[in-house]
Amino acid sequence: MCEKVSKMIRSLSALLLALILALGPAEGALGEYKSPDQIAREAAEKAAAMQEEARAEIEARAESKALAEEPGDAGDEAPPGISFEKPRETEAQIDARSKELEKKYGLAIKRDNGGSGESCVGTAALDALDLALESVTPAFVRQVSGYWQKRAGKRLSFSFTYSPKGATALGLGVTGFFDVENAVIEIYLPDYSRGASLGGESPLNCLHEFGHAVQYMLMELHGEAALEREWGKLNGEKAAYTFGEYPEHYDETVWISAYASTRYEEDFAEVFAHAFLRHREGMGFASRLTDGEGKYTVLGKKAAYIEKLLKLYAGNPGEVIGNMRRLYLAFESREYKGLTVSGDYLQFGGCPAPRYLLAGLLSSMKLTPDIGAWVNDIGGWEVTTGEGKRFLIFPGGKYFAL
Ligand SMILES: [Zn+2]
Repeated sequence: MCEKVSKMIRSLSALLLALILALGPAEGALGEYKSPDQIAREAAEKAAAMQEEARAEIEARAESKALAEEPGDAGDEAPPGISFEKPRETEAQIDARSKELEKKYGLAIKRDNGGSGESCVGTAALDALDLALESVTPAFVRQVSGYWQKRAGKRLSFSFTYSPKGATALGLGVTGFFDVENAVIEIYLPDYSRGASLGGESPLNCLHEFGHAVQYMLMELHGEAALEREWGKLNGEKAAYTFGEYPEHYDETVWISAYASTRYEEDFAEVFAHAFLRHREGMGFASRLTDGEGKYTVLGKKAAYIEKLLKLYAGNPGEVIGNMRRLYLAFESREYKGLTVSGDYLQFGGCPAPRYLLAGLLSSMKLTPDIGAWVNDIGGWEVTTGEGKRFLIFPGGKYFAL
């Protein structure tokens, strides 16, 4: 969903240029002559040192997070320790499912095997991707992929790959990245040898990254400046992006998520993903789209603006907008065995169990994955402890006592 650390590392080449520019005049003003070569060399050294520092910080924070992940008491949020579950299917079966999706959506789908020969994702992740893309319709996905074929010379691709080392264990949320130059949506899976948390294999994350691919297409079709200006107008004066930190509290009638409030690009991708995906029972957020008098809130205006763009530029506007409008009818909570559940952690409803399990939680409750049963309809595990206690656990860490 977010690509903070990955961007930090990737932006270092841009930084190199910035350093060259910064070092030049400033040093010159002090009267010390430096040849362009020397300046470039120093800038490269500085950039390398900063990159090293960024990596060291990732490592250090991964270590301290791992220490903090000792099993504890059950709270509202589950401990994030999650382990890898071996795939239950053969590589040939994963391959076949992957080819099926490539054909259905006109995409390329790649998956890393970390050098082990064993794919980092199984058919469960591909099913989650299918559920996400189906919501924006195969025809529209093919249109977007076709745009990238023209722009980058190759189809849009989803590439499932291991995350930058340890990054997902940090809670830094490095779950995806859209590589504009190569038209590749990278979906990061946790490095399971480090007991990392759930990676990017969620429907919302897949659609968020696809949202970026759509956004770039619209920048060209609608005009980059017009798009940003019109979007900014919807936010009005009371809403400003944080350009970095996640706010602890945010206005839910302005932002769909904390991440959306960090910058314009993420805001667009987040609204896009949530608007298409959260039409299932319990996941709705229609009450955040209009106020008491039936007028659009800022968030409502943003959803309506995406609808307007789709009407203008989607090849199958009726079908796409029809899918998106299911959002307005979706129940905002649902009951399950006496519990009321609601929100985006229900996003795995209708998907098979993801391969990354809540190992930390399971071990603290003396559970094994075998004790739990995946409830497909609700997208969580129902588990019974050795002491006979029963829990409902969702991928990503949310859990409830039954
Ligand atoms: Zn993003």
